[in-house]
Amino acid sequence: MTQIKSFVFNPFSENTYVLYDETGEAVIIDPGCYEQREKDALAGFIEQNNLKPVKLLNTHAHIDHVLGNAFVKRKYGIDLYLHESDLPVLKAVAVLAPNYGMAAYEEAEVDHFLEAGQTITFGNTELEIRFVPGHAPGHLAFVNHANRFVIGGDVLFRGSIGRTDFPLSDFETLARSIRTQFYTLPDDYTVYPGHMGTTTIGQEKKTNPFIRP
Ligand SMILES: [Zn+2]
Ligand SMILES: [Zn+2]
Repeated sequence: MTQIKSFVFNPFSENTYVLYDETGEAVIIDPGCYEQREKDALAGFIEQNNLKPVKLLNTHAHIDHVLGNAFVKRKYGIDLYLHESDLPVLKAVAVLAPNYGMAAYEEAEVDHFLEAGQTITFGNTELEIRFVPGHAPGHLAFVNHANRFVIGGDVLFRGSIGRTDFPLSDFETLARSIRTQFYTLPDDYTVYPGHMGTTTIGQEKKTNPFIRP
């Protein structure tokens, strides 16, 4: 059984996720830790539960989702995975970070590019890679069919959707991603988004005011 631990980090209230299973292997998704106490919280959880992180995944490369990339890569010696189309987004963070008062941000090098249809594995767990651009040009979602959940990043929120007023964002593209990659999943799948609490596919298909099925 795959377990999900979530943290809320940085001034953007971003959700950082640690996924792990009975083998003790783990992946860290979108580490937003910036302050030392945030890094300590993440590392403390991993240590207390005797977890072995084996991969670092980013749903997309907006600043709030990548602040802890360098810390995680260095601490655990693991590779960073991202969609190639989000590289310009990642590169822009180094320029933008000081404007957000985050001059200590360190860019981490991407080791592997992910694409739609690939599978990420750790322990006994599999994550299907879905390509869901619109909020960001290379946005990915990670779907676990065995435990019926999606790590969705900033695509579909409880009663809301990802912003599309960023330079590389596009509303029609986001709407298509939600309709073809999220709303086609079974209703009972739980969505773990990049901000705020969880929801389900069925709940959003029924009530989301922005994107109707
Ligand atoms: Zn974002
Ligand atoms: Zn975000």
